Amino acid sequence: MHDRDTERSATATKRRSMKYVEEFRDPVIARKLAGEIHAAVHLDRSYRLMEFCGGHTHAIFRFGIHQLLPENIEFVHGPGCPVCVLPASRIDIAITLALQEPVILCTFGDVLRIPGRKGRTLLSARGQGADVRIVYSPLDALQFAEKNPERLVVFFAVGFETTAPATAAAVLHARRQKLNNFLVHCSHVLTPSAIQHILESPELRQWGAPALDGFLGPSHVSAIIGCRPYEYFAEEYRRPVVITGFEPLDVLQAVGMLVRQINEGRSEVENQYTRLVTREGNCAAQAAVAEVFELRKLFEWRGLGPIPYSALRLKQEFVDFDAEVRFPIAVDPVPENRACACGAILRGLKKPTDCILFGKACTPERPMGSCMVSSEGACAAYYNYQGLQ
Ligand code: SF4
Repeated sequence: MHDRDTERSATATKRRSMKYVEEFRDPVIARKLAGEIHAAVHLDRSYRLMEFCGGHTHAIFRFGIHQLLPENIEFVHGPGCPVCVLPASRIDIAITLALQEPVILCTFGDVLRIPGRKGRTLLSARGQGADVRIVYSPLDALQFAEKNPERLVVFFAVGFETTAPATAAAVLHARRQKLNNFLVHCSHVLTPSAIQHILESPELRQWGAPALDGFLGPSHVSAIIGCRPYEYFAEEYRRPVVITGFEPLDVLQAVGMLVRQINEGRSEVENQYTRLVTREGNCAAQAAVAEVFELRKLFEWRGLGPIPYSALRLKQEFVDFDAEVRFPIAVDPVPENRACACGAILRGLKKPTDCILFGKACTPERPMGSCMVSSEGACAAYYNYQGLQ
């Protein structure tokens, strides 16, 4: 092929791959949307909007969305980063598990750096001989199990409703293939219970409840569960919810929709992310999750404490794949680092910059708390994009 043809073809490929990304980052439309929000806000009040999902926190800081908006719109960062809410005791269990022969422990890359007791991590456990592997999907862990029949492969499953269906699919596949060396250690957590907890927990009342005026609802989670689960607390707690995507124009449009609802005194669930989210969600994914998992009565969230019916565990009929049953490891609760403000940040009560360790003892290279580990954590987002390092 002629060089110019190659160039043209590469440009065309680039254009094709940019479809549905560049369109949602158009600066002219962004300024127009921001202008409409400036015109709509009432200057005699504030608008405190919680973005539940760490992906939105990341997008807001990465694209400087907060700088385009009126000063009386404040983003409050919620607990929707799966790495940030995983308690240190679960990391201690994962480390103990990984150090046992003949276990290969597989998990997502971010999990390796979450500090457990005395700052120990799965990464440091590797130095002690633990066989810890990074995977992009539980299906990668399944492949390790198929290729290493003499080893026991444990998938350390974390994440919200977005990742739970893939774990369920892996368990169903393992059962079909009669794989007896594949296990799941399940720490999947649920979004609606966490939002409800934020709105009504007694601890919050002690700490001083944050006055939240509305929620930017998560995008990927909602692609699975749909809009319907948010309807209860929009109505019950009189807070509007707008489900939105991760691109700058998505977030700006959703902020405008929330401002309109707040001004009009409405508390409804609206869907800005119609290109992916429906009211019913992904019924096939929901069915896989319902087949494999059941609700836990109680699950400890880092920073939020125990929340009833907020997490999943494997059903009894999948007990052969349950690492918690095969390896009943008990660890003492791990006290939070008292100087780390993650708990208050995850509840929307403090900003990362309120923490005395921020940017000094605690950085993305040497995280002291979970909110600095993942790029979706509020502390990492502030550090990386606010020019505060
Ligand atoms: S800066 Fe570090 S220590 Fe402080 S709240 Fe964030 S993660 Fe915790």
